[in-house]
Amino acid sequence: AKALGKARYEVFDTTMHAQAQARLQLETSLRQALERSEFHLNYQPIISLSTNKGIGFEALVRWRHPDRGIISPADFIPVAEETGLIIPLGQWVLQEACRQMKAWQEQFPICRSLTMSVNLSRQQLSQPDLAGQIDRILKGTGLSASCLNLEVTETGLMNEHEETAATILAEIKELGVQLSLDDFGTGYSSLSCIHSFPIDTLKLDRSFVNNMHIASKNMDIVRAIVTLARSLGIKVTAEGVETAKQLAQLQILKCDCAQGYFFSKPLAPEAVTDWIARNFP
Ligand code: C2E
Ligand code: CA
Ligand code: CA
Ligand code: CA
Repeated sequence: AKALGKARYEVFDTTMHAQAQARLQLETSLRQALERSEFHLNYQPIISLSTNKGIGFEALVRWRHPDRGIISPADFIPVAEETGLIIPLGQWVLQEACRQMKAWQEQFPICRSLTMSVNLSRQQLSQPDLAGQIDRILKGTGLSASCLNLEVTETGLMNEHEETAATILAEIKELGVQLSLDDFGTGYSSLSCIHSFPIDTLKLDRSFVNNMHIASKNMDIVRAIVTLARSLGIKVTAEGVETAKQLAQLQILKCDCAQGYFFSKPLAPEAVTDWIARNFP
């Protein structure tokens, strides 16, 4: 039994070793990617359901690896979070999204009334100077604070010290920046969350939108969320809208805004200028 135990341990050890190797490799190439500017942003339009016009964009990071091609954020954001590289990466994303939005505003005056949404990770939210950093980026790029919308998740807000997250969010709001609660409905404390934090918009997770046609119960849930949000003065954006049917249902439910492949996939910056010209002729 002792021998078997040892053999098993060795197998386990080899797998762990391989995983640790792969992780380390990804970490090293992430570090290099930052230095070599292998990241870029795509922008997905967000649409008002009352006007059918764009109200802004969400910036989504992409990594163009020299050998492996485009790597999805779902694959590298978790590693960036574990290693702390999300801090410099997140800074770059914020800076680039604000710079780009300001450039579009100068090119297309209509963009002055649109917002740029940027995802913030949990680690970013535990930096005491986050509001200061954001303020410097806004001043540096010349983007108005009211044109920036920061997306946070419930897990992101679940700091060891809830007060820390609350203080940081209050400071961010003080700048005039908008706040969205991302992936709403996937966690477990959603309702307390919208109560305790100064949220302007709820982003209803894709799973609700996907399942609306399956059971009227899902429609009832979405209706209840929209009603609750409205009573608290919070707007609702539905994520992952892929079909005309889903859009029609969301319109019946008086959802404020929507985002998804039905309207547009995340676009490269060059494609955004075409989109703006088409959306605001
Ligand atoms: P998220 O913030 O929930 O972003 C929405 C994701 O849904 C994006 O995936 C988007 O491409 C995808 N999506 C949009 N419309 C549809 C649709 O109609 N159907 C389907 N199936 N998917 C749709 P993406 O770009 O792969 O990003 C995945 C996640 O990675 C994001 O989820 C976010 O959590 C994270 N992420 C992306 N960029 C950043 C970033 O700059 N910073 C941080 N911290 N996280 C990021
Ligand atoms: Ca998001
Ligand atoms: Ca989301
Ligand atoms: Ca997500």
